[in-house]
Amino acid sequence: MSCSPEYTDEGEGYITMTRKLPTTWDEKIDVVIVGSGFAGLAAAAEAAGAGAEVVILEKMRRYGGNSLIAGGGYCAWDSKLHLRQKLSLGEDSWERHKADTLKGGDYFNIPELVEVMVKGARDGLDLLIDNGAVFRETLPRPGGHSAHRSHQADVGAGRRLSEPLKTLAQSRGATIRLNTRVTWIWRKDADGPVMGVETAAGGKTTQIMVRRALVLASGGFARDVEMRMAFNPALGPEYNCTNHPGATGEMIRYAQSVGADALHLEFIQLFPCAEPEKGALDSFAVHPYSGPGFGIFYVNRHGKRFVNEMDRRDAVSNAQIASGEKPTYAILSRRIFDKLAVSAEEIEKGIARGRLIEADTIGGLAEKLGIPAGSLQESVHSHNSSIKERKDPDFGKPMTENMVPLEEGPFYAIAQWPAIHYCMGGLRIDAKARVIDIWGKPIPRLYAAGEVCGGVQGANRLGGNAIPECIVFGRIAGINAAGESE
Ligand SMILES: Cc1cc2nc3c(=O)[nH]c(=O)nc-3n(C[C@H](O)[C@H](O)[C@H](O)COP(=O)(O)OP(=O)(O)OC[C@H]3O[C@@H](n4cnc5c(N)ncnc54)[C@H](O)[C@@H]3O)c2cc1C
Repeated sequence: MSCSPEYTDEGEGYITMTRKLPTTWDEKIDVVIVGSGFAGLAAAAEAAGAGAEVVILEKMRRYGGNSLIAGGGYCAWDSKLHLRQKLSLGEDSWERHKADTLKGGDYFNIPELVEVMVKGARDGLDLLIDNGAVFRETLPRPGGHSAHRSHQADVGAGRRLSEPLKTLAQSRGATIRLNTRVTWIWRKDADGPVMGVETAAGGKTTQIMVRRALVLASGGFARDVEMRMAFNPALGPEYNCTNHPGATGEMIRYAQSVGADALHLEFIQLFPCAEPEKGALDSFAVHPYSGPGFGIFYVNRHGKRFVNEMDRRDAVSNAQIASGEKPTYAILSRRIFDKLAVSAEEIEKGIARGRLIEADTIGGLAEKLGIPAGSLQESVHSHNSSIKERKDPDFGKPMTENMVPLEEGPFYAIAQWPAIHYCMGGLRIDAKARVIDIWGKPIPRLYAAGEVCGGVQGANRLGGNAIPECIVFGRIAGINAAGESE
């Protein structure tokens, strides 16, 4: 069999660009899922729960993709923990979450998909909680959100949320095959159903037929420099990237080869608070992003603020890059760490690793950072006044009663710099998670969920909105895939 795409005229008179279908299948499986992150695991849990035989194919040697290393922020207007009400952090609703997501995405988002995500976010969160996910006793308000709604997984973050889902899926009978790369999608013809996939594992090629459906949950392509630059030439190899090495875009290409539509591939997000040298989004890089609602602010190497810290990720990243001087710093105090429910032990670890710089006074902090003490003191003074006056004349940040002025030490700084982080674009799906072809019709027996999809986040994703997208659409894809007739 030829390994490269070729034109055939097989299949009810249609000319399609495809490889010739295999003449025999090595295996037949009800529901095949590509990718073992949040979306794939959620799909597997639901499909297996509905009685389907489910196999997840994962090309890496460990499960979890970006989901395993995620910061663990999950935005939802409520959950069975009722943290917002418990911590007196104001009002929220799914309508408000939807409005923020659309605005944050510059209205490129498909409103119907956004509504599915925000409405389903609470149930998705409750599913995680019911299955053992542990959240901190805090509820940050990340940039672009108008309410406190980011539920933060406890230490271990992404793993804390992935493990319960994996256990749930496996307890219902789903299996995960690691080191198994999908190398093609088989579709009968331009109108026909998806029939299966080709895989490569241990030097062996296997043809797997799907009895019910195929679910693509293969994540984004932020590590795929060639594909990234094909759609956004400015994002070259000089950028750091927060993603796992397997975040490449071949599954999007295979899906396009069988007629799938894709959208928004040029919208690729930078995370503003990554570790400056290697670009990791470790647990210490989560605090600068989740903390501005509690009073964290950022300064450049001159000790000056340079942006509205509650602005969207693209605005904050662009302001840093425009400053031209790496790194910038998030400035906070022990009291703010308390608001973020960060323990003394975690702080000690951060100091030991050199990720947190600690000092008893602002002057002492400036000295350790090698920045002018006078201007850092002035920035702190001015930001404290802005909190008290509920007005930020310099950058127009919405100041609230939930922000803590930096009046008592110890004080801390965290170095940060933007790194490539998230792909807003991907395969076009509908509210049933069906993959839509270039003519606007669902491709029979093909579903997709998570970062491999486009259209939910628009031109820019708000922090904490990816995990709910994965869980909500992963569940929908799993239920509908299992519901296909054999
Ligand atoms: C460091 C980091 C922190 C983040 N923090 C947050 C956060 O706090 N809150 C939030 O909402 N979002 C966060 N995000 C974004 C969010 O975590 C991701 O969008 C989400 O995890 C994607 O899940 P997924 O299931 O779609 O894909 P992934 O979790 O990436 O899983 C896809 C899997 O598919 C596999 N795969 C790909 N191609 C193939 C193939 N050909 N054959 C077989 N397998 C294949 C990959 O190896 C991978 O394991 C973060 C992202 C990163 C990188």
